[in-house]
Amino acid sequence: MSQPNNDQQQPENVSGNEKQSYNHDDVARYYKANLDIESNRHYIEKTREQINELEQSESVELFQRQVALLQKRLLNDPKFFQQMFITEGTSAIAWEFQQNKLSKKFTLTFWELLLKNDDMSSLLLRFVWNLPLKLKRKFIRAIDKHLSERYPMFKGLSQGWPGENNIPPYIRPPGERNEDFDLVNQGYIGYMGLGYSFREVEMLVWLEVLRDKQCDDRPCEIGIPHDDGSEADGGCPVKIHIPEMLQLIGEGKFKQAFDLIKESNPLPNVTGRVCPQEIQCQGVCTLNKRPIEIGQVEWYLPQSEKVLNPDDDFALADHENPWAKAEKPPIAIVGSGPAGMINAYLLAKDGYPVTVFEAFHELGGVLRYGIPEFRLPNELIDDVERKITILGGKFVTNFIVGKTTTLEALKRAGFWKIFIGTGAGLPRFMNVPGEHMNGIMSANEFLTRVNLMKAHLEDYETPLPKVRGKQVIVIGGGNTAMDAARTARRLGGNVTIVYRRTQDEMPVRVEELHHATEEGIDLKQLRAPREFIGNDKTHFVTDTILDVMQLGEPDASGRRRPVVTGESEEMKVDLVIMALGNASNPIVKDAEPELKTSKWGTIEVRSDSQETSMDNVYTGGDANRGGSTAIKAAGDGMSAAKEIAGDIPFSASEIKSLVATAENYTLQGQAPQRILERIELAEGIVELVVYSPLIAKAARAGQFVRVLAWDKGELVPMTLADWDAEQGTIVLVIQGLGSSSMKINQMQVGDAFAGIAGPLGLCSELNQYENGETVVFTAGGVGLPPVYPIMREHLRMGNHVTLISGFRTKDLMFWAEPDQRTGLLQTEYPDLLDVIYTTNDGSFGLNAFVTGPLEDMLEKMKAGNGRTIGEVVTIGPPMMMRAVSDLTKPYGVKTVASLNSIMVDATGMCGACMVPVTIDGKMVRKHACIDGPELDAHIIDWDKFLPRFMQFKKQEDESKVRHGFA
Ligand code: FAD
Repeated sequence: MSQPNNDQQQPENVSGNEKQSYNHDDVARYYKANLDIESNRHYIEKTREQINELEQSESVELFQRQVALLQKRLLNDPKFFQQMFITEGTSAIAWEFQQNKLSKKFTLTFWELLLKNDDMSSLLLRFVWNLPLKLKRKFIRAIDKHLSERYPMFKGLSQGWPGENNIPPYIRPPGERNEDFDLVNQGYIGYMGLGYSFREVEMLVWLEVLRDKQCDDRPCEIGIPHDDGSEADGGCPVKIHIPEMLQLIGEGKFKQAFDLIKESNPLPNVTGRVCPQEIQCQGVCTLNKRPIEIGQVEWYLPQSEKVLNPDDDFALADHENPWAKAEKPPIAIVGSGPAGMINAYLLAKDGYPVTVFEAFHELGGVLRYGIPEFRLPNELIDDVERKITILGGKFVTNFIVGKTTTLEALKRAGFWKIFIGTGAGLPRFMNVPGEHMNGIMSANEFLTRVNLMKAHLEDYETPLPKVRGKQVIVIGGGNTAMDAARTARRLGGNVTIVYRRTQDEMPVRVEELHHATEEGIDLKQLRAPREFIGNDKTHFVTDTILDVMQLGEPDASGRRRPVVTGESEEMKVDLVIMALGNASNPIVKDAEPELKTSKWGTIEVRSDSQETSMDNVYTGGDANRGGSTAIKAAGDGMSAAKEIAGDIPFSASEIKSLVATAENYTLQGQAPQRILERIELAEGIVELVVYSPLIAKAARAGQFVRVLAWDKGELVPMTLADWDAEQGTIVLVIQGLGSSSMKINQMQVGDAFAGIAGPLGLCSELNQYENGETVVFTAGGVGLPPVYPIMREHLRMGNHVTLISGFRTKDLMFWAEPDQRTGLLQTEYPDLLDVIYTTNDGSFGLNAFVTGPLEDMLEKMKAGNGRTIGEVVTIGPPMMMRAVSDLTKPYGVKTVASLNSIMVDATGMCGACMVPVTIDGKMVRKHACIDGPELDAHIIDWDKFLPRFMQFKKQEDESKVRHGFA
């Protein structure tokens, strides 16, 4: 082989066009290697022989078999190696933890490993969770020192950790939040809004849980027991397995922790936010300076699950529709608060066809109409509703059990068992002088106007008193007071909470009080209104006199009783909101004499059961407990569901028949309430025949309905003009006066109402008059339609009736022709019915107000030459009713006025329709929707009632302008 010379000459290539170069060193090494091979060939061959020989040896064969095995295992079971490395790694980490301090480098690396959210990180979480407290502290000191720049919430965390310091959830700053209705406490998940990743947030929750001590006596779950066996202090009302939940999170098993709490609490996303944790699970936490944020962790779990699996309904989608399957008998649930919704959810999941009947047009009970969205977003209720619907559950809104139907009738309609979750929605008042004045309302009314009816939004119709810049006082110290105060604050009011004890006795969630004061709400402790004073002209409240109180001996609740000191002070007020708690609504109880209730009106249950005194009728939540808590309501709904799902005493075919009947009934309840006929009675007055089969079946003379014409409309009471149970129709007569009635007037055949609920109120008291007395009806304008069915009932009973029907002018008259309603009655009862028409302008009948002929009759009766008047029923404009009442009073003739006054819910829940009446010289509140609508006209304090009737006049006028009706 010839060697190249060393002077690095570059030979020309063959073509000579292109120059190519080579590295002389490489070429030299190449030649040398070849020479080496030549010279070492002998050794190489020797070595090869040795290798061949060794490969045959037993040891090498064994070694190679093991390598092959390892390779195979690596391919088939990579986890094995991972585990091996992890074990190695954790030994190294354990070593680091043995050092005095964790170094910066180690801490940062360790944190990055935790954030990886892989097997290694799970192992590390478990590793730290299982460390003794001393080493956990070392870790917290390290993250405080080395990571607080990236995580400001770590700064100072190590001081007093774990008992006195923690990472709180993210709360929006007061200045940012007190103008809007967005969520205030955004929870741990809220840190994502600040740019932290989901895993980082998960680690914040884990750090919070790392403080847990896993106490053997589990006070957070079972409370602190008493020796006498009485109810333990604190603990969880539904016994969520809190220590286990914390342990699972501590080990990084978030999903398992969520699955665990779901077993005992189907509403963790709600209860975690609204439970009074400070007297339940957290109140007895052994970290008493700063208990573990159990509530926050509780709602973090479902919320994080939503982030990970936004379409989590997927799991429910396989569920076969229980109505189609028809293997279990139908269940009716009355009320859609937490008690009813949980009951419906669990039973639907268990394969029962369920229908939830709800009085309002929206679902959720207090969770929707009471608790504002800045505390509990409505989407959580929508979520539960969606889940129940996916499970096949059905909803009928605007349905009032006790009015639309009875419990027995529901059973006849195919429902095997019934759960009553109607809550405790009857607001309490103080009964102090001046309480009737405008600008004084219950928290239920105020919150319903805002939360449910969105009265504060421009495009919604419900009126609201002016709040911006006004002096608002909220009386009470519970959650309701706080919700009302914070709502008023957001609407621009200067708000003061007036409470008769001190802050320490307030039954409010501590967090809410804290947030309220942060938001600029003042607190007047040891004060109680003694009287309200108003403006004589506007009848709006202007001042209150507050009694100065002091604390006396403890009362039955264990709290020190407030006692008057004799001192008082005056305070300017424009709006007063009473948040004094709720009593039980009597509607169901009054309709069901067999249903046993307590002296407070709550529905009683049998011992160790949720079953009421009526077989197959169950109850729970506030309906049974009185004003209580959401978690207790949910817990009752759950216990009742377990009881309801007992042995089924029906054959397969009987079940199918029950399901078909109940489904048909449910469909009737859900049917759109459409206008079938529209008759123009006079200018601005229309008669609407509306399909509403269940109301038509239940309607009685004198009752009214609550109408929501369109989604953003207001709830308007309208007395029933007629109904036809066979056709399933009701008749409403509407005169377009305000913007709502004007809009209804414009509705056409085929249009559907957003909801009509009823029949409401008590039906007319129909007395039999056997001595020829006449029952006089004074009907002013569209007072005639509500008069018509009552008058007809009297005629059917054989009573003599005198109808004095007054109109402003002949053009506004209706139903007077022989083939129209009044005319037809005259033909049918020629001897029993006298009709006197009056017009204000004399264009038809007597030129008089209705009081004119009435006075004649009264005088003749007095003189003994006219018919005796058995009673007078007056329906029409309030001023007319008052005139009639004033007229008849001196004659001692029983007079009844039908009051369709201001109402929001029309079932007694808001107290808006308060009618001041005087009984035995004392002013008493009556409510037009539950005690009426017909009330003894002579005890109504008309001077006080009429201004109340007009209190939203200004807002109504503004609304007319907005809608172009002015
Ligand atoms: P409700 O939630 O009252 O629901 C009853 C439902 O039944 C309503 O939808 C109602 O319209 C309907 N209904 C009533 N009568 C009939 C009928 N005849 N036919 C058909 N439907 C009917 N608790 C907490 O734990 N934490 C809180 O922070 C908290 N804050 C509150 C704030 C406010 C403003 C209020 C008023 C209450 C608060 N509570 C709180 C109490 C808690 O909300 C109640 O204990 C809980 O909602 C009761 O649930 P429930 O299902 O028994 O009844």
